[in-house]
Amino acid sequence: MTRTTPRKLAAGNWKMNGSMAALDEARAVAAAVPDGIDALLCPPATLIGPMAAAVEGTALSVGGQACHAAASGAHTGDLSAEMLGEAGARYVLCGHSERRTDHEETDDMVRDHVAATWRAGLVAVLCIGETLAQRDAGHTLAVLGEQLVGSLPEGATPDNLVIAYEPVWAIGTGRVAEPAQVAEVHDDLRARLGDIFGDAGAGFALLYGGSVKASNAPDLFALANVDGALVGGASLKATDFVPIMEALAAS
Ligand code: PEP
Repeated sequence: MTRTTPRKLAAGNWKMNGSMAALDEARAVAAAVPDGIDALLCPPATLIGPMAAAVEGTALSVGGQACHAAASGAHTGDLSAEMLGEAGARYVLCGHSERRTDHEETDDMVRDHVAATWRAGLVAVLCIGETLAQRDAGHTLAVLGEQLVGSLPEGATPDNLVIAYEPVWAIGTGRVAEPAQVAEVHDDLRARLGDIFGDAGAGFALLYGGSVKASNAPDLFALANVDGALVGGASLKATDFVPIMEALAAS
């Protein structure tokens, strides 16, 4: 049955950080996942297998940070969603703004990555976000609407898709969006999802991402359409990430 209440998800993106020694942080997170939420860490691809083994049997899921659109082939240096899944990933981040910038990923490409993630039986975390110039020009909601529609293949359900709103100007900058700014965007996204998916639109988890930490998480999670967070810097240490999970469980 299609879910009509979103899951709560605390997701961490380690980016190009971490080593085998950092798996102790994942073990500590896994041991502290509160009841009532889903938790996810996305380490560099080299750590997916070891992390999945380290947290096996716990409530912590492991995810990839990006995938190629194809299942296999002549794509040196790339990884398919199937490979990430075989290594132990259950989720894949798609369209993170650092990928859109560093690797010139377009909405069309991101849409293929989401489709590839589903083909492999994994859950896509679709990241969308506006630049500061777009916000200052008053284009935030239009830009996000375009990214959402442009990056989504047919077949999205609340079980195979999570959406992360990540204002580009708030990622890794220490500058978190104001709750009112987050509320405006998330309420608009929820309405758009309702337009596209009808009743099922209420069931998609909407994460906020951008300099989330324990001190600002409770105010963000108190917002009606914020169902969790995608966390970069504050996901690297269990002592930073566990309080964020706890704030989500308490919201
Ligand atoms: C991210 O990497 O998606 C992110 C939101 O990073 P940070 O929390 O460090 O801003």
